[in-house]
Amino acid sequence: MHTVERGETLVAIASERGVRLGEILRDNPGLEPDAIREGQSLLVCVPRPHRHRARAAKICDKRSPLHRHEVVPGEWLAEIASRYGVRKRDLLRLNADLRSNPDLLRTGQMIRVCPDIAPRERVKLRHTVQRGETFVSIAKRYDLNPRQLLRFQEGRLRNPDRLRLGQVLVVWKDGGIVSGFGSGERGTGLLTGGIQLPSSHHYTLKNPRLAWGTPLTIRLLQRATASYRRNNRGAPTVHIGDLSRRHGGRFPPHKSHRTGEDVDVGYIHSGRHAGLPRFIRATKDNLDVRRTWALVRSFLRTGHVRYIFMDYRVQRWLYEYAKRHGTPQGTLDELFQYPRGRGRAYGIIREDPGHDDHFHVRFQ
Ligand SMILES: [Zn+2]
Repeated sequence: MHTVERGETLVAIASERGVRLGEILRDNPGLEPDAIREGQSLLVCVPRPHRHRARAAKICDKRSPLHRHEVVPGEWLAEIASRYGVRKRDLLRLNADLRSNPDLLRTGQMIRVCPDIAPRERVKLRHTVQRGETFVSIAKRYDLNPRQLLRFQEGRLRNPDRLRLGQVLVVWKDGGIVSGFGSGERGTGLLTGGIQLPSSHHYTLKNPRLAWGTPLTIRLLQRATASYRRNNRGAPTVHIGDLSRRHGGRFPPHKSHRTGEDVDVGYIHSGRHAGLPRFIRATKDNLDVRRTWALVRSFLRTGHVRYIFMDYRVQRWLYEYAKRHGTPQGTLDELFQYPRGRGRAYGIIREDPGHDDHFHVRFQ
């Protein structure tokens, strides 16, 4: 039995106990998800612990187990890709049936995905409108943007500005991580057969002794920086920070940088900060948004970027710049965590603390 504590929600209880919300509802017939109260007893059947990760699937190149995503109302393919930190083309590769009309998804359709961001249980809640609530305040309460909340209503809500007391809205919410996924160190955490990043007139190198990578990483890093400089005449050189140590392994203070696939890259600055061989905190005044975006795109164009860690503010500046200059909305949805809030990983370009003076590229 679980005794409900003050302020607890069913989603939180399910996530904490490692069960699906649907299971709690099944085990407690007649339970109103939005009307649980402090002190109430719930039957929660906790499964035996899944300590191990599920087996990585061959079709996912053994990098993760295969996950089946169930389409909820109002989702589109770029949005689904970004939930899992993959590209649309990855989904098309795994789902031949989507190729003819990737923009036509139906609710309940199953999509195969090799997730880079661990999948979460999705739970359907019903929210009853209370006195004083607005559509926007309800969206905020569930960490949704109003556009998303509106799509969940599948056209049944005519006027979001005129909610009635007691009216019921459908909310899809993320719960806990699907069992079998989640953290767990993959591989050996070492670098074998690594090579040292050579010097180049396209970049300066912080410390050559800490600039070891896999042959692929070194090649892609050289390709991306050269293509950035070729396409942006007169652009400052790029400042490259740490990769990995000679044989990989732990590399404090970094959390990763163990396997020769991670690279820290300075933002491109303008004015007196341009081309300085050190990391400088990006501000609206010193960041060369156009060239930084060009550099990020050169990395993405290698086709081997697994993710990029980037400060949320910098994401916003790049996102807005890219949007103004014709990058399609679908591509922005797919690439950026912004504007979905700082809370939850999304997309290829994601926030991670400590990335306000450089971004971190993880190759695959
Ligand atoms: Zn890093």
